[in-house]
Amino acid sequence: MKFGGTSMAGTERIRRVAKIVQRQQAAGHEVAVVVSAMAGETDRLVNFSREASALYDPAEYDVVVASGEQVTSGLLAMHLQALGSKARSWLGWQLPVRTDDAHGSARIEAIDSDAVIASMQAGEIAVIPGFQGISPQGRITTLGRGGSDTSAVAVAAAVKADRCDIYTDVDGVYTTDPRIVAKARKLKNVTYEEMLELASVGSKVLQTRSVSLAMKEKVRVQVLSSFIDEDAPAADTLPGTMIVSDEELAKIQEGLDMERQLITGIAADKNDAKVILTAVPDRPGAVATIFGPLAAANINVDMIIQNVGRADTDTDVTFTVPQADLERTKAVLDENRPSIGYEKLSTDPKISKISVVGVGMRSHAGVAATMFKALADRGINIQAISTSEIKVSVLIDSDETELAVRLLHTAYGLDAA
Ligand code: ADP
Ligand code: ASP
Ligand code: MG
Repeated sequence: MKFGGTSMAGTERIRRVAKIVQRQQAAGHEVAVVVSAMAGETDRLVNFSREASALYDPAEYDVVVASGEQVTSGLLAMHLQALGSKARSWLGWQLPVRTDDAHGSARIEAIDSDAVIASMQAGEIAVIPGFQGISPQGRITTLGRGGSDTSAVAVAAAVKADRCDIYTDVDGVYTTDPRIVAKARKLKNVTYEEMLELASVGSKVLQTRSVSLAMKEKVRVQVLSSFIDEDAPAADTLPGTMIVSDEELAKIQEGLDMERQLITGIAADKNDAKVILTAVPDRPGAVATIFGPLAAANINVDMIIQNVGRADTDTDVTFTVPQADLERTKAVLDENRPSIGYEKLSTDPKISKISVVGVGMRSHAGVAATMFKALADRGINIQAISTSEIKVSVLIDSDETELAVRLLHTAYGLDAA
């Protein structure tokens, strides 16, 4: 069971969580719980780090931001004990959750689960802080924002759990963020691949890595609400959204005579910034001089457009990076200006990426055209486009994000009745 920040925000809510956990144990399950920091806490800690220095040491950042989950894991263990359960916390270094040393966005390599399994078999509830691990050098690491989802799936895989239930502040995965579009519809099932695309393009309900890990390790994941009656016995139905394989989905739909929606979901991401390099020499190897150093600096580049050169000799290159990496991106490009040879560097953080996702796209044409037309009809300008087998993304002005998502939700026939 994993509980997110909203579910852990304060004494009353943690007590509710403790009761929900206790009910699962009472229903005969051995339970490991992964918790997030209280809502807002990680942001607060990130801000302190930024205030300390714009180019802070990522290893020390991890020391700071990992603390939020230490607090909530200890508190949940206390609440469980107060309700009469046996419980203890297991910090990332105690399990341990072994990660690589990419501070700020570390990857889990292995979890030693023997001790925790033994403790669970002895009737103790294991409470594990999400988001944190330990590097090969023995330093604290964190898994990137939203990383407690990945911790939960990794723990579920390590203890070979029957299921990984991700409790959050909405009761499942919707066709789009239900806080933006009131007509969003809850999905009973969504495939790993679709969820992976949705997460990677901005549906923050699950961290992207948690979905790829679940897919790889075949972990059964359910997304559901923690805002349920904490005194009711544990339900034996699945009230939330199940993440399923293509085959499972086919089986579920068999006999239901259901036409699969062309589009499963729509996501928006305002967290990227656009970078434009003008007058880059138009010669073989030029883009490598740009993206090589950015990759070496661990900066994730997303959409890339190389314009047709204006003269024979140079061209403009536009791409997007996470806003959080914009300062470092500028520093890297500045440092490498002599080898890249661009004329001007400009940036724009006021952009938003809107994506439509669905496995139905594989067998249907015209999905992208519907998108372009719906946006054009309302005068929304598209700055860049990218596609994959089951996704189309466009870059627009961030002021138009909500409008664009609503328009597309309607255009693809997803609105709830
Ligand atoms: P937690 O703190 O529990 O990890 P998050 O805030 O990370 O919760 O994720 C839950 C939020 O994800 C919801 O409150 C909702 O606003 C947002 N969200 C974005 N896209 C979707 C979607 N397609 N379905 C459900 N929720 C979504
Ligand atoms: N507390 C971390 C964050 O806010 C991890 C998580 O909640 O998943 O990003
Ligand atoms: Mg989250």
